[in-house]
Amino acid sequence: MSRNISTRKFWFGQARNMATVSICSILLSVVSVYLATKGFTPSDRLVVLWLSALLPATVCPFAMTYAGFQNQRLHRLHQQVHHLANSDDLTGLANRRCFHREAALNVSDAVHEGRRTALMVADIDWFKQVNDTHGHEAGDETLCHVANTLTRIAPEGALVARLGGEEFAILWEYDDAADVGHLAEALRRGVEATRFYYHGETISVTISLGLSITRTGDTLSTLLKRADAALYEAKSHGRNRSELAA
Ligand code: GH3
Ligand code: MG
Ligand code: MG
Repeated sequence: MSRNISTRKFWFGQARNMATVSICSILLSVVSVYLATKGFTPSDRLVVLWLSALLPATVCPFAMTYAGFQNQRLHRLHQQVHHLANSDDLTGLANRRCFHREAALNVSDAVHEGRRTALMVADIDWFKQVNDTHGHEAGDETLCHVANTLTRIAPEGALVARLGGEEFAILWEYDDAADVGHLAEALRRGVEATRFYYHGETISVTISLGLSITRTGDTLSTLLKRADAALYEAKSHGRNRSELAA
């Protein structure tokens, strides 16, 4: 839908530019020919003036339409490059680069404006065993299933990313501190309950989660550091659980 609207907007802008360029070219052409044909008879002058208006009036719309198609092609290429640079090609989530850029801005704004923001770092438990038991492709499928489950359960507007390997991150704004723990539990349970079939075998995994919430003076780096420490705690306390950073 957004693509249709933006295409319509694009061609509307293009038509406006086309009209402006055509009118300016016609005026310029007519004025210069008018000044250059002072010695002509009025009837000859009129013919030459008509011709000087006709030429830009014909050429400009064609040239502008051609330029419009070229611009649109470049715009599409730019969108593709942007998508490739910012999304994880396996899961389709935001990639590490995109996460760091967007999250740094979000955290900085949230801290300045006093909005409460939570960061969750999740890591699949014993993921190496999935690869070793079912193969690397099954491991890839598992990553996609976990990514889909996290995206489905994450609050609207949350930034969900794959940081690399079997590690994911979610950044979101919350109103009530109790909701942070509830969401972590919903995500943990959601992944635990997800089962899928790969070449006749059932695969299910669990995740461990580390959570941190913004404090005065926080940056993405300090928030991540605390979430990572909490994740480490969750792993060392037995996995398939979440820990909130102190
Ligand atoms: P822990 O519970 O401590 O996190 O154990 P783990 O097995 O999940 O962690 P470990 O770091 O030992 O292994 C992570 C594995 O993830 C090893 C690596 O081969 C696998 N892995 C990383 N990226 C990918 C990927 O894109 N696809 C697949 N299939 N496997 C991946
Ligand atoms: Mg792991
Ligand atoms: Mg890991």
